[in-house]
Amino acid sequence: MQIIDGKALAQSIREQIAEETARLKADRDITPGLAVILVGDDPASHAYVKMKAKACKEVGFYSIVHEMPETITQEKIEETIVMMNQNPNIDGILVQLPLPEQIDTTRILELIDPKKDVDGFHPYNFGRLMTGLDAFVPCTPLGVMKMLEAYGIDPKGKNACVVGASNIVGKPMAALLLNAFATVDICHIYTQNLAEHTQRADILVVGVGKAGLIGADMVKEGAVVIDIGINRLEDGRLVGDVDYEAVAPKCSYITPVPGGVGPMTIAMLLQNTLKAAKERA
Ligand code: NAD
Repeated sequence: MQIIDGKALAQSIREQIAEETARLKADRDITPGLAVILVGDDPASHAYVKMKAKACKEVGFYSIVHEMPETITQEKIEETIVMMNQNPNIDGILVQLPLPEQIDTTRILELIDPKKDVDGFHPYNFGRLMTGLDAFVPCTPLGVMKMLEAYGIDPKGKNACVVGASNIVGKPMAALLLNAFATVDICHIYTQNLAEHTQRADILVVGVGKAGLIGADMVKEGAVVIDIGINRLEDGRLVGDVDYEAVAPKCSYITPVPGGVGPMTIAMLLQNTLKAAKERA
């Protein structure tokens, strides 16, 4: 069994991005710029945005965070996005989710210029991803594909199972595996006999948000197991959706939580922002 070290891989990607950013500045006088909209006081959202802003600074990007109160109106957020769409110094626009109840999230995401949609949540980019065209791909599933590639794991011809079918994690993950010629099962809350699906998987990717969902009896001997889930236990520990201690001995490869998919997500956000900046150039 080999542990897929997302932290180390993300670090090396960040170093490459810093080098490319310096070159882009020197050769074309372009500094990649990321703008983030952060609404309300949710501590987790604030922590994520802080990490993203710090990562941008480290690789030499320009980044700004627009903080807005919980009571903000739809119109105000839309005005800000229109302004960001028009700002030539901003290559990537990210709206930290979730947004408050009074806000129509779909309308907000659809207003972002698809060329600046570094989270890959716009239906335009999702459609391009599904059709196998160049697109901005959501950072978490893109990070998973990078990990597979870095460890020489080719999905072609393999049985893959994705547990969790959200628009930002499970569905794009399944599309990427399908584009890489895996045979893909997509499971969700209404899937009956989840274990029947997971047991067939050569590559099992889990992104649900339920600690202990995947036990050893649900995993095929020698499988590659990628755990996207993040759950905070009562004792403060951070764990994934996979029962790591029980499952790891059965795997050929497994990602830990923390230190697996999480760091790759931020590295892919930087990569997408650099891609947008290069396309501007
Ligand atoms: P979500 O709540 O939008 O979607 C959860 C999905 O899991 C849904 O499709 C639902 O049908 C399915 N599901 C729920 N219970 C299930 C069950 N018992 N069996 C099978 N399927 C079930 O969540 P999300 O935004 O897709 O995030 C999923 C998890 O991934 C969360 O833990 C989140 O914190 C984590 N996440 C991690 C990263 C990262 O960088 N590592 C990034 C994004 C999300």
